[in-house]
Amino acid sequence: MTYPITIQLIPGLPHRPYRKGPGKPEGIVFHCTDTPGRPDTAATEASHEQRTWQQAFVHFFVDDTSIVQVANTDFLCFGAGPNGNSRFVQIELCMLEDPAKFQEMYQRSIWLGASLLHQYGLSFSAAPEGTVWSHQDVSRYLGGTDHEDPVHYLQSHGISWNRHLQTLFAEWSKPVNKPASNPTCRPVSQPAYRKLSVLVNGRFYAAIDVDDTTYVVWTALNEFNTPYEYRGNGLMTVRGQDIQGVVFGGSTYLPWSCLAPGIHAAKVDWSFTV
Ligand SMILES: [Zn+2]
Repeated sequence: MTYPITIQLIPGLPHRPYRKGPGKPEGIVFHCTDTPGRPDTAATEASHEQRTWQQAFVHFFVDDTSIVQVANTDFLCFGAGPNGNSRFVQIELCMLEDPAKFQEMYQRSIWLGASLLHQYGLSFSAAPEGTVWSHQDVSRYLGGTDHEDPVHYLQSHGISWNRHLQTLFAEWSKPVNKPASNPTCRPVSQPAYRKLSVLVNGRFYAAIDVDDTTYVVWTALNEFNTPYEYRGNGLMTVRGQDIQGVVFGGSTYLPWSCLAPGIHAAKVDWSFTV
């Protein structure tokens, strides 16, 4: 079972590296939104955070129907005090009272947590030495923050933190578990595309030549804070439009012109800049 991740990066977020460098988180932290008694969805939390990120922001919100990513996980967020922030990718669980809805949300959060560990080459282990933390663990072992979530919330649905760790370990142990936004689909035989390197906003991205059109690796969408969703087999929805990309070498490549509206490109020695 995999779940789509809706990526709606908040414009203007700072790109601060983790203490070991950009793209090098040391684990994950689980939170809950702590807003009981009102409808709580990933979409409303994400739009709230668009306005309040200067006080705090996390990387993901999870509810019973969606996973919304609002920040690039290669850079730190502001959800668990300076000591936790400099180490961890952070996931916020929406507060759902209905047991069936809670289960839907919970399964998504387990899948996401395991996927992130795989994505960053992290093994499964528990705090305080390990990779999987509650906000409460951060408060206890690292300090700089005093929240206790999401322990009581999980407990209110009959899930002890220990049980949570066991469930996550079981998911992480499954042989194939990669995030939907990081596709692993590799067709058995496919044409060998010529590899290119392109310059987008001053940063190099991998690209391939597909019938004389330059296709750029999907992560270049982050340069433009373009909202997108990975649908599988190279199909992505970009700004609401379905774009069939090419899966090559385990990554999805998209036609350069879909990176942003009105993009102008000048191809120079198989590079282009915008
Ligand atoms: Zn928290």
